[in-house]
Amino acid sequence: MGMCNQRVNTKILLIGLDGADQNVLGRFAEQGDMPFLRESFAQAPLRALESIPPYATPAAWASIYTGLTPAEHGVLDFLDLIAGENQLVSSASLRAEPIWRRLSSHGRRVAMIGFPLTYPAVPVNGVMVSGLPAPHQKAIWSWPAEFDAHLKAIPHFLPDPEMTSPRVKPVRSMLGLQHHVRAVVEAALAAHEHYGESGWDLFGVQFQALDTFQHMFWAWIDPTDHRFHTYPEHERQGAAGFFRVLDEALRRLVQKLQPNHIVILSDHGFGPAYQAVCPNHLLLERGLLTPSVSLAQLHRSFHIQRLLKRLDVLNLRARVKFSARPGTTIMGLNRLMRDSLIDREKTPAYVFSGGYCGLVKVRPGFERAVQDALLQARHPTLGNRLIKSVHFLDTLWNGQWSDAWRQLAIIQAEAGFLIDSHFREYGAVAPVSAGLTGTHRPTGILWTTLNTLDAATSVLDIAPGVLRALNLPFPEERGDTAQAKVESTATFSTEDQSAIEERLRQLGYL
Ligand SMILES: [Zn+2]
Repeated sequence: MGMCNQRVNTKILLIGLDGADQNVLGRFAEQGDMPFLRESFAQAPLRALESIPPYATPAAWASIYTGLTPAEHGVLDFLDLIAGENQLVSSASLRAEPIWRRLSSHGRRVAMIGFPLTYPAVPVNGVMVSGLPAPHQKAIWSWPAEFDAHLKAIPHFLPDPEMTSPRVKPVRSMLGLQHHVRAVVEAALAAHEHYGESGWDLFGVQFQALDTFQHMFWAWIDPTDHRFHTYPEHERQGAAGFFRVLDEALRRLVQKLQPNHIVILSDHGFGPAYQAVCPNHLLLERGLLTPSVSLAQLHRSFHIQRLLKRLDVLNLRARVKFSARPGTTIMGLNRLMRDSLIDREKTPAYVFSGGYCGLVKVRPGFERAVQDALLQARHPTLGNRLIKSVHFLDTLWNGQWSDAWRQLAIIQAEAGFLIDSHFREYGAVAPVSAGLTGTHRPTGILWTTLNTLDAATSVLDIAPGVLRALNLPFPEERGDTAQAKVESTATFSTEDQSAIEERLRQLGYL
């Protein structure tokens, strides 16, 4: 087979639809906006796939790649908490053996296009194109590095899609995200063109734009969201158009790659975000957070925040964001609104990361007090609970990082809220940041023709099932994988880091 130049079919095509939700895909398929998925769902059912706390993109994908929990693979969030407090995750943050490494070491051909945690791209027996978070400027996005020039020739291709300013008209932002979907398909087909002559055992393509789209436009696609009917018809049509483009993208990949089997999955589900909960305010009120400034100064900083918001009328933020040094100033403001206001040495507890879940660091001895304070918090006017659960990590999973994470807890807000780790001028309950209408949910999707995934119900089941389909063993001893050598080092410049942090902050993380 290897002697002739004829292309061998792809054995497994793995498609990542970041944040895909059963109801959304089901509805667009049924309405005829996603005909490819509609045909697919007639062959095999669309199923639920449970994500893993904190239901964050990096942790969930790391569990999909390895079949292991965060305590075993070392990835919890967009910050690499093992490497240091303000370090962004990179491919080096994955401290267990991902599926592409296992395939490569067995001589199998693998392509991974645009998946999270793959910057810098690591050597594989095939091709890898980096995904979120990766620098957008002057970085090499691929392995082999020579492929990078092809990526940069594809219009609109970036390792992860950019969220536009809330001041940009929704339909224009939607178009930008459609371009990203098409560009990812172009990148995948170029990878196939250049490196696919001996076929593929696993060809993975990730559509990160769906997650960004739903963060921004959830309220445009969910008829049960009370905001849905407030948008003009042409904007809701524009939103449906994004799903049509996504459907075309899937059809095109399947037609070109001719896989024997298909796995379509998401890392978590999605739902509406109506309000933000700012737990640092709750901790402050209960005397569990020590500010580094006087209360008067703290209130002055809220005043500054209000002033900055008024300045925003002049479109300052948008201008800063698209300037030659994107993010730097905004990130400075970000630190001003949280990090510089907390005395990290003295404080019993503080929340340093947000999103559908937040992460809180608690000093030993304060665990129960923090848990009680957060669980007892009530909405100031409605009286309902704000926080659904507080889980200390050593009670969730066992693994080699459990000890390192002993002082960390995952806090989950009640449905409809998202966690905001900043101090906001509104106090504990605030409007969601401009431009956001949705956030993650614990249940994602799985659609597959692989019978080794028949019993899969969780993100932890994917890697073992895919490896079994390729007749490769999944390591029995979980300890085996924990020692996997980390071969790459992230090279985020300060500017890169600021720009990426700003993109993540816009999505409601950090
Ligand atoms: Zn995600």
